[in-house]
Amino acid sequence: MILNVPGSDPSTPVSPVCSAKGCRADAVWVLAWNNPKLHTPERRKTWLACEEHRDHLSKFLGVRGFLKDVVLLTEWESSKTPDSAEPSDSPESPGPSDSAGSPERPPAP
Ligand SMILES: [Zn+2]
Repeated sequence: MILNVPGSDPSTPVSPVCSAKGCRADAVWVLAWNNPKLHTPERRKTWLACEEHRDHLSKFLGVRGFLKDVVLLTEWESSKTPDSAEPSDSPESPGPSDSAGSPERPPAP
């Protein structure tokens, strides 16, 4: 009997997943971005991306001039300081809870 088929488990509460629409792959990259019309220069919003969608999502932000940085999730987690964390910045769902500060979600390729 198969105990755990990858992708078949509906509850994956711990590992962060890709922010691309419809994608449920584990996030590997953090895309840090800033909308200068809405945010102070120091402010960083983040999207998560899997290996496959890193390019897609970074281009989406890049063409709008929002993209600031692309770093590995492991590096991001180890470098960020708890002091700078904002409650409104949910790493799990960029956009819906703060629609004014987020560009539209890119369509799935
Ligand atoms: Zn993805």
